Amino acid sequence: MSVTHTLEADVLRRQDPELAEILLGELDRQSTTLQLVAAENFSSPAVLAALGSPLANKYAEGYPGARYHGGCEIVDVAERLAVERAKALFGAAHANVQSHSGSSAVLAAYAALLRPGDTVLALGLPYGGHLTHGSPANFSGRWFDFVGYGVDAETGLIDYDQVRTLARGHRPKAIVCGSIAYPRHIDYARFREVADEVGAYLIADAAHPMGLVAGGAAPNPVPYADIVCATTHKVLRGPRGGMVLCGSELAERVDRAVFPFTQGGAQMHTIAAKAVAFGEAATPAFGAYAHQVVANARVLAAGLAAEGLVVTTGGTDTHLITADPAPLGVDGRTARGRLIAAGMVLDCCALPHGDARGLRLGTAAVTTQGMGQQEMARIAAWFGGVLRGEAETPSVREEVRELVGGFPPYPG
Ligand SMILES: *Cc1c(COP(=O)(O)O)cnc(C)c1O
Repeated sequence: MSVTHTLEADVLRRQDPELAEILLGELDRQSTTLQLVAAENFSSPAVLAALGSPLANKYAEGYPGARYHGGCEIVDVAERLAVERAKALFGAAHANVQSHSGSSAVLAAYAALLRPGDTVLALGLPYGGHLTHGSPANFSGRWFDFVGYGVDAETGLIDYDQVRTLARGHRPKAIVCGSIAYPRHIDYARFREVADEVGAYLIADAAHPMGLVAGGAAPNPVPYADIVCATTHKVLRGPRGGMVLCGSELAERVDRAVFPFTQGGAQMHTIAAKAVAFGEAATPAFGAYAHQVVANARVLAAGLAAEGLVVTTGGTDTHLITADPAPLGVDGRTARGRLIAAGMVLDCCALPHGDARGLRLGTAAVTTQGMGQQEMARIAAWFGGVLRGEAETPSVREEVRELVGGFPPYPG
């Protein structure tokens, strides 16, 4: 059953037409514009079904077999299934699937390994570090002493020599690798080497690439990091949520860091949906998807470069692209506004060189819709036309609508 059908047939329509209208409006927005936000995807109808299931009613504080609430015998099976599937998918000895979000997963990793005031080395926010990597507006910046490493201003690549120098100088308790905007594979072995040299824990925040890891299209941080944090809703295509993976020696500390230290009751509908997504991600079809995501991103990056944008690092290994539109005569913010007006929805981000904002986009969602390299080439051409001011916004908007109409995220 399609989502539209579910919504239309649903009691919601009769009981709360006002909200039903909003849901249908968002479905229409998602079905008529290009979703190029790098962190987004379309989860399957099966994942959405689990999310909208009566498991949402169940209170389940604690872990399977050790709950604070009665009546957990069935949801326990769901959580065990999610845990076993996550462990098998990523080759981890232990998985905690209760984190409500990627940020909660990072909070749990810190809580498991650190004390307030500890020094942590992470990618600086101007270079693509996440809020939870030391932003003063976030708990991380308030409770820990963050030192930031950067990327090379010319190449846009992580400066591993600087990571080592800073690690030697600051002797951090933990080193964090992972980013919201890094388009290349991360050399986890190199980070492990530095962490071992200074006696630090290594935390991989693989929120973005974890779906590529599941599909065999990106290196797996699990063999190298003490703790791996991830989201389940980005390339991985599951429900909005987080997870934490680690070895057996840290299992108990991680579990206690998630519950009761940072969270209360587990969200069993989300955990069931995570199990569904892990099951989907273990299929050969998902492997093909992950590789197509990368192939599409490479074509899109090359197309943007051909249109005159400066693509950070000269391309991508992943689903993610960052680019500077300045050579076309527009800054990042203006560019984003024009592109969104033309139906291409994406973000701004910091750029490795200087203060200018660039564009950040990804191919996870459009690839789920079934788009391929031909469609990526068309998108790149629209970017060029819109940003140079050569193409009429309404006519591109119409062409975008027509293209997306051929690739409905929820057919039927
Ligand atoms: C997306 C992301 C997060 C946070 O995930 P939320 O679910 O939005 O809290 C954390 N770290 C990195 C590197 C991310 O990309």
